[in-house]
Amino acid sequence: MDHQLRRRAVAARLEDLGVDAFLVTDLANTRYLTGFTGSNGQLLIGGSFELFLTDGRYEEQARRELPDVDRSASDRSYRGAVVERCASSSVARLGVEAHSMTLAEHTRLGEALGDDVELVAAEDVVEDGRRVKDDEERELIRRAQAATDAAFVGILDRFALGVSEGWIARELERLMLDAGADGLAFDPIVAFGENAAEPHHEPGHRVLEEGDVIKLDIGALVEGYHADMTRTIAFGQPTAELQKVHDIVRQAQQAAIDVVRAGITGVEVDAAARSVITEAGYGGGFVHGLGHGVGLEIHEQPWLGTTRTNELPAGSVVTIEPGVYLPGIGGVRIEDMVEVRDDGCAVVGVSTRELIEL
Ligand code: ZN
Ligand code: ZN
Repeated sequence: MDHQLRRRAVAARLEDLGVDAFLVTDLANTRYLTGFTGSNGQLLIGGSFELFLTDGRYEEQARRELPDVDRSASDRSYRGAVVERCASSSVARLGVEAHSMTLAEHTRLGEALGDDVELVAAEDVVEDGRRVKDDEERELIRRAQAATDAAFVGILDRFALGVSEGWIARELERLMLDAGADGLAFDPIVAFGENAAEPHHEPGHRVLEEGDVIKLDIGALVEGYHADMTRTIAFGQPTAELQKVHDIVRQAQQAAIDVVRAGITGVEVDAAARSVITEAGYGGGFVHGLGHGVGLEIHEQPWLGTTRTNELPAGSVVTIEPGVYLPGIGGVRIEDMVEVRDDGCAVVGVSTRELIEL
């Protein structure tokens, strides 16, 4: 992870963007460019300078994590340091991240900078680089997935009549931490029976009953990198329809995995999975996009869905997660992360996708 190289890539784009300097306010982007892991940090990149901004709480941490970057820690807003540096470096046009800067912050920054500096909204300046993971990033994602796979195996013998979704969610968290995770990539989704018809069900007091499907969407976090996996299993024998739907969703996921390679678009991969589900008569039950990139954020570029025309570059890591949801009955989603390669893709995890009947 060469943070300096990443910062240079941003500096090299200033001219194309038509700006003298670029202000990074998105925290994941700041981390990507510096390695800073705190909760308040901004980065100003000019043609011949870099300035990292944080507050007093993180002064020591920044000294340790960013020893080679000019730093400024202030308990006032970061705007003061930005105004000073823009003045001393003759910045006339300052690029800002459109997705991360609120209208209120844009107004305040514009007022602080005055008439001499024009703010220029830009998109994807850092995200363009983040789409392609380097070897070290892919290794961290694999480690996060290994902890996720371990938790899935570990949870299988915890299911019994009467256990609640919430209890299973807490057990999953413990299992991931025991398997080496630093934390959770997101709060686990645990849905029993009819609750599995909600794609993002929040685990509650519903207890396990004979014949329930069990939908688990889980992921561990390792050094800032996320994992994301969904499995749908059953407690006892599920209905014939849910068995059939599980089979269809599995086939749909495999159809998508079979077409993934560098250069294919998110629309094309989505269509490969969606056509299987539609032809089986369940198209109306597949109510979300096929997947998303994974990295420093759980949901990031590139995207896979019916309107996502972006290409998947070699080295990106994306999820393939078709689902079918039947209100009042249940639902099935199967999700895996894959590494996109020139000639295909490689599934990151090892957990079985068979319909396990406990
Ligand atoms: Zn997921
Ligand atoms: Zn996902």
